Amino acid sequence: MQIALIAHDDEKDDLVAWATDYAEFLGDHDLIATGTTGGRLNDETPLSVTRMASGPLGGDVQIGSAVVTGDCGAVVFFRDPLTAQPHEPDISALMRICDVRGVPLATNRATATAVVDGLEAAAERTN
Ligand code: PGA
Repeated sequence: MQIALIAHDDEKDDLVAWATDYAEFLGDHDLIATGTTGGRLNDETPLSVTRMASGPLGGDVQIGSAVVTGDCGAVVFFRDPLTAQPHEPDISALMRICDVRGVPLATNRATATAVVDGLEAAAERTN
């Protein structure tokens, strides 16, 4: 499964820490990320992540496209709920298309952990 990882600037430290905690699970999957988030994950975790454009330059739209095509099966998006983003329309579009396509979307650490735990349990049931 392809999993997308995105974090707004004030949330990047938290995503890097979470991805490190879940590196064993995430490392079994094809990972994509918005540009700056992906750079940090590649530099600071054992994970290998394919970088899209930076979020404000269209990276969220690229990930949305992967959701539409069915390539991306889950999105972990640590959004900053306290800061306005210049690319808010792109963020809304990504979240909307996840709902349209029924793709799991985690917007904070607690939900991301629940999604990963759920995906792991589902994988064990099918093995
Ligand atoms: P970034 O994009 O990883 O390139 O910072 C994230 C975003 O703002 O959507």
